Amino acid sequence: MNILNHKKDINKKKIKWCIGCGNYSIIMQLGKVLEKLKIKKNKIILVSGIGCSSRLPYYINTFGIHGIHGRAFSIATGIKLSNKKLNVWVITGDGDCFSIGLNHLLHTIRKNININILIFNNEVYSLTKGQKSVTNFNKNKFFNTISLILSAGSNFVARCLDFNINHLKKILIKANKHIGTSCIEIYQNCPIFNKNYFKKKIINNNNYIILKNNKPLIWGKKGIILIKNKPKIVYLTKKNISNLWIHNENNIYKAYILSRFKIINKQLPIPLGIFFKKKIKKKIKKINKKKKNIKLFKILSNKKYEIL
Ligand code: SF4
Ligand SMILES: [Mg+2]
Repeated sequence: MNILNHKKDINKKKIKWCIGCGNYSIIMQLGKVLEKLKIKKNKIILVSGIGCSSRLPYYINTFGIHGIHGRAFSIATGIKLSNKKLNVWVITGDGDCFSIGLNHLLHTIRKNININILIFNNEVYSLTKGQKSVTNFNKNKFFNTISLILSAGSNFVARCLDFNINHLKKILIKANKHIGTSCIEIYQNCPIFNKNYFKKKIINNNNYIILKNNKPLIWGKKGIILIKNKPKIVYLTKKNISNLWIHNENNIYKAYILSRFKIINKQLPIPLGIFFKKKIKKKIKKINKKKKNIKLFKILSNKKYEIL
């Protein structure tokens, strides 16, 4: 079977999303990335749950399953365990994975199955007419998505915007390269029930920071320094520029602080990019190469093995 061609293999006529939905951008970037990665179409499996975003597997010419609510993770786990050569992507929304499917999400991350999880977060339940979801920042009590994913033990955690297409593509490529469960939260515009919410909240207020590995945390004329593990906003001067927090995507402790920015101080920006990426030990790779046919019970009962 051929390599995916995003122009031919994304069936735009079939798409039933509303005009202006952020899902259009995400499907296009995913298609371009799959094409760039040159993975054969019959090796790509897109597995989804229920929700607007979960219709994605219908619209792209690969194998796919439109599963049951919150259970895409279990289906994807079964697929990957039965054939580790397959390139498996879970497509899920904030309702699908942070409500009904939360336990499945957490346990999939814990097992570190080598799949990519794309979380389309529009902070509303769009398929059921726009109730605020558990991730909605304006609720008194909301799930801090990135903290939750980090706590479950994800080794690749990132956040993107649907309309920042080059950034989104780069992160998708890195996520796919990572061995283990990669989680990418994508802020997705729902023009029907949450119009331009992220544009207003993040872009118009210059309220975001793009995380770049080994680079200081700077946005606009401001930067961030860490004093006793507390982030502090400073205006950039020649004096303080050398004291700025340098992003290290391999540092789990700093990733937790980044994930809590808005809780620590509302004036802090929303981080976008890779929060955390664990360095994979070569030793684990070698073990897996040698032991090609490890039985499932052995994998799950022995911490020495990671499922690849
Ligand atoms: S309701 Fe919102 S999320 Fe669903 S297809 Fe329409 S714009 Fe997209
Ligand atoms: Mg939603």
